[in-house]
Amino acid sequence: MINIQNKQDCCGCTACASVCAQDAITMTVDEMGFKYPKVDTNRCTNCGLCEKVCAFHDDYDKSNNFEEPFAYAVRHRNMEEIKSSRSGAMFIALSDYVFRQNGVVYGVGYAKHFRAIHKRITNREDCKELKGSKYVQSDLEGIFRCIKVDLQQGLYVLFVGTPCQTAGLRSFIGKRNSEKLLVCDIVCHGVPSPLLWEKYLNYIEQKKGYTIEQVNFRDKAKGWTAHYESFVFANGQKIITNTFTDLFYKHLMFRPSCAVCKYTNIKRPSDITLADFWGWEKVDSSFNKDNMGCSLVLVNTEKGKRVFEEVLPEIHIIPTPIDKCLQPNLQHPSLFSPKYAAFWKDYQQKGFTFILYKYGNKGTRAKLSRLKQKIKQIIKKVIRK
Ligand SMILES: Cc1cc2nc3c(=O)[nH]c(=O)nc-3n(C[C@H](O)[C@H](O)[C@H](O)COP(=O)(O)OP(=O)(O)OC[C@H]3O[C@@H](n4cnc5c(N)ncnc54)[C@H](O)[C@@H]3O)c2cc1C
Ligand code: SF4
Ligand code: SF4
Ligand code: SF4
Repeated sequence: MINIQNKQDCCGCTACASVCAQDAITMTVDEMGFKYPKVDTNRCTNCGLCEKVCAFHDDYDKSNNFEEPFAYAVRHRNMEEIKSSRSGAMFIALSDYVFRQNGVVYGVGYAKHFRAIHKRITNREDCKELKGSKYVQSDLEGIFRCIKVDLQQGLYVLFVGTPCQTAGLRSFIGKRNSEKLLVCDIVCHGVPSPLLWEKYLNYIEQKKGYTIEQVNFRDKAKGWTAHYESFVFANGQKIITNTFTDLFYKHLMFRPSCAVCKYTNIKRPSDITLADFWGWEKVDSSFNKDNMGCSLVLVNTEKGKRVFEEVLPEIHIIPTPIDKCLQPNLQHPSLFSPKYAAFWKDYQQKGFTFILYKYGNKGTRAKLSRLKQKIKQIIKKVIRK
């Protein structure tokens, strides 16, 4: 039976819990807010299936992959779709295709108080909720079994998730009944703790005195390359902050397994990979000149290629050599902050507001450092004159 000794060994994909016929495995939240499998030994029959299904290792299934993926810069033909998506709106082109096949789409939306969860969506209108990146680990509870039932009933299924989630799903579904399953992963920087996301929402609600009614993890109001999250409150006020994004890019809030991610390469555990196309200018300097977003799409398998060809009428594409789009997370896992352990220790001992001010961009230290930078710039200007 599965027995996680080192937290880095489990990405929380739920494949083990889904495969257990005895329902002996519960995904249990730890003190950092991440879920891990816990076995009820009274129910376990030692069948070994949970260990066999686990795909969080270097030998995950790559048997259907091309030697090298076909890479493209992609933008949806409809500008409104680009504006409301994270990058070039490739996801919505794919989900529209699946709905045309009367299929269902699984992606990340929200539960109560903006908790990120995977959802089953059956129509275009509801699919709007899945658009945009939610920079926090999504909850997959119950989803893999639901997908299995859909496939057994002959439905076409699109699943989008992090590579560790797609690897887990493919391992759980296996080859049987998988013809109508289209799996898309994202290039993944790492997933922050859902607990800290909840704490941050509580913090700003308390500050403002109103509940939050809308969130956007990456607001495009200041352009695609800008890094801001935005919130709309019950009184209609909208604020734009970059505090959560700042902690995200400091690599302090990630799940421990992200430090040893197995999928930061071009052998993707999916049919199609979606990402932001950093460096798109090298391919065509006018393609994204409005800075509203450009997707990088990797076509990894024959199935992915067939679907990609079906959605061509919806998108503008430019083929690109793979070496022109190898961003860091296609080469190695994100390097965790040297302050990672101290950050979590401080959180456990002193609470959320303390770490927000000590490690984030809100505290006196961060303000002083910004002031220093400004003074340096002014001195440089004066010297130049
Ligand atoms: C945690 C995280 C880290 C990322 N890191 C990188 C990176 O390092 N480099 C890079 O190029 N791109 C990264 N991305 C992917 C990128 O931000 C876009 O999601 C991707 O380019 C798709 O954009 P789109 O316009 O085609 O689709 P969109 O309409 O924006 O669709 C987003 C899709 O992503 C799925 N999704 C959203 N949030 C999550 C989540 N928390 N977990 C799983 N799936 C989710 C949705 O279900 C939807 O299908 C990351 C995304 C996430 C969620
Ligand atoms: S060994 Fe079999 S019965 Fe025991 S937890 Fe794993 S899958 Fe369930
Ligand atoms: S990585 Fe997935 S299958 Fe493996 S132990 Fe963790 S939750 Fe279970
Ligand atoms: S970095 Fe790797 S382990 Fe972490 S969420 Fe992304 S795919 Fe999973």
